[in-house]
Amino acid sequence: MKGLIPQHFIDELLSRVDIVEVVDRRVPLKKTGQNYTARCPFHEEKTPSFSVNPDKQFYYCFGCGAGGNAIGFLMEYERLEFPQAIDSLATVAGLEVPRERVENPEKVSRRKDLHSLMEQAAQYYQRQLKQHDNSIRARDYLIKRGLSGEIAKAFQIGFAPPGWDNLLKALGDDEESRQLLIDAGMLVSGDNKLYDRFRDRIMFPILDNRGQTIAFGGRVLGDDKPKYLNSPETDIFHKGRELYGLYQARKAVRNLERLVIVEGYMDVVALAQHGIPYAVATLGTATSEDHLRKVFRYCPEVVFCFDGDEAGRKAARRAMETVLPLMEDGRQARFLFMPDGEDPDTQVRAIGTTLFEQQILKATPLEEHFFNTLSSGLNTDSLEGKARLSKLAAPLIQLLPRGVYRELMMDALSQRTGLSSGALQNILEQTTPAPKAEADTKPAAPPPKQKVSAPPIPASKRDPVLYMISLVLLHPSSAAALFEEALPTTDNPYLATLSSLLELLRKRPESSTAMLLGHWQGQPEGEVLTLALSLDKPRYDAEKAQIALQESLQHLRRQNAQRSFQGAVDKLRNANYADLSDEDKENLRALMQQKAQGD
Ligand SMILES: [Zn+2]
Repeated sequence: MKGLIPQHFIDELLSRVDIVEVVDRRVPLKKTGQNYTARCPFHEEKTPSFSVNPDKQFYYCFGCGAGGNAIGFLMEYERLEFPQAIDSLATVAGLEVPRERVENPEKVSRRKDLHSLMEQAAQYYQRQLKQHDNSIRARDYLIKRGLSGEIAKAFQIGFAPPGWDNLLKALGDDEESRQLLIDAGMLVSGDNKLYDRFRDRIMFPILDNRGQTIAFGGRVLGDDKPKYLNSPETDIFHKGRELYGLYQARKAVRNLERLVIVEGYMDVVALAQHGIPYAVATLGTATSEDHLRKVFRYCPEVVFCFDGDEAGRKAARRAMETVLPLMEDGRQARFLFMPDGEDPDTQVRAIGTTLFEQQILKATPLEEHFFNTLSSGLNTDSLEGKARLSKLAAPLIQLLPRGVYRELMMDALSQRTGLSSGALQNILEQTTPAPKAEADTKPAAPPPKQKVSAPPIPASKRDPVLYMISLVLLHPSSAAALFEEALPTTDNPYLATLSSLLELLRKRPESSTAMLLGHWQGQPEGEVLTLALSLDKPRYDAEKAQIALQESLQHLRRQNAQRSFQGAVDKLRNANYADLSDEDKENLRALMQQKAQGD
């Protein structure tokens, strides 16, 4: 067995290779100013938004958000696993890769344990599908759905036998492995007993973008509820980010033109069986912005596939509003509705590959779907209907990034309403961008009020913590400014990554940007670092970065203090005044006074 590659070697390798050379050998680069640019190899585009920074030794694409160091580039571009990418770079650099067998006792190794446990579970379930006395029902089910052994193998489909402790007996030999099984969401504890979460189900392993099993989805065979059951959130599985079937789709199609988002695992597998290997499914959640960013990272087009019923229409409305802010020029989103009572699985079996693929190609483009949805129920021949349509459409169009696509949508709105672009501009200026779609979306626009000057940028880009991460990442030596500071406790989603980053730099202050990017390659922290690369900022030096860091920290602290203050006020205000103790009343008066002075 190959051992771990020691960190010091990875650092050494990164300091020896030049990312410009590594990329240029595969994607010819052009020097523009300080950086090098090219058309991005990871998404379709006409004008280059892919850039390589020779000083900091990283690449980043402003179009699709792909980014990382030289190792990450090789992994993505040549679809290599981490050790192979290291081998390949080492060969060029004339270095020999040493291996060490000792595991370091950090989080990383725990994640490794979880990964290897999930892998063992996946293999166990696959064996049961072949061997277990009871598996005939599972195999029958798959055969009836027309699945070949080949596809079942590609998706590593397995079978969790009926009974409460099959997996527990197979993999839970000792206390440590039982704890790991609980942490991985595979065992549930109740009434002082441990039992298997998945029982009598067809098992669909959920793979991350490196093909490692990180969770399972199980479809029931008997009458148990629920019909579909997913792993809970764990250290290695975050529902809102993962897409079932994405790994297989990327493997099956080298240059993905589009990805189809469907609802269930069986839809993904059935479409692959019928020669449509580019479908993915969300895991029991609505399509999120993270999901879509992931999709656009690999191809320029997404096709949403929904059931034709009311629930499907609602989901489509939500998807439309989620995709709008991501519609940069060159991207497309389409909407496809299944006939009532059908899903992609039954539909593709009913009409066959050719017809189904034609439907995908002819699916309604976003611009058309957008106006159809908003006009429904309006008489757009009447003046009133036209006015109403422009009021509904304007705040949503505001969500689109500035660019040609947004201009086209404005033109289309102007054509449909007969209003001049000047008149529409007026309406636009009176409206705020539409709020995020809620589970139950009201079609009405928010009351026109505030003037909007800045283009809508994703909230994360304005995030103070993400900004601090980007400063530390690009100027690692500036982190020293924060070593003695306590970070405020907030629920900011990036705070954990910032702490990890600081912790690492405390231990290894000499780390470079590329080394930091490599440290969390393929892990959630790594995704946050890549996101931080997208923050376009002035060219600071380490000293300016230090000042900016301290300012951001102050800002974060003020924000935090304000929030807890508001929380205290709200709590006292919402309580029944008569129920308040004298002390509470005094506190409330003091807080209100303080607030009045603050305003
Ligand atoms: Zn790109």
